Amino acid sequence: MNSSQNLVKELTCVRCPLGCKVRIEYTKDLEVIDVSGNRCPRGREYAIQEISDPHRILVTSVKVKNGKYPLASVKTTDSIPLRLFEEAMKVIEKMEVEAPVKRGDIIIKNFLESGVDLIVTRSVERL
Ligand code: SF4
Repeated sequence: MNSSQNLVKELTCVRCPLGCKVRIEYTKDLEVIDVSGNRCPRGREYAIQEISDPHRILVTSVKVKNGKYPLASVKTTDSIPLRLFEEAMKVIEKMEVEAPVKRGDIIIKNFLESGVDLIVTRSVERL
């Protein structure tokens, strides 16, 4: 079925390195009409999530106190809902961690109850 009132989104599935081009057709009420192009069920799940509650990995930096550099790069260990990004950035902007911090250190566990941690991606030594 393909109605001109339906919406269509073409996405690249990021759930594995194959990067299937997935096409999803849906109504404005987010009822899924058709998903194609995915080589496995995870592509369908990904496409549905993208139209209803898209997720991304958050990559930013956090202030460091007494460090060789004033900032340390951080990222979430997995994607979190885009709708949490604004709140996440407010929390991160207010934070200051004490040097040293090492790559892989968990800065916040279960960040905003997303089930995902915020970790350091660049070590900063103490001054
Ligand atoms: S649809 Fe399946 S096979 Fe294709 S990129 Fe996504 S996870 Fe990989």
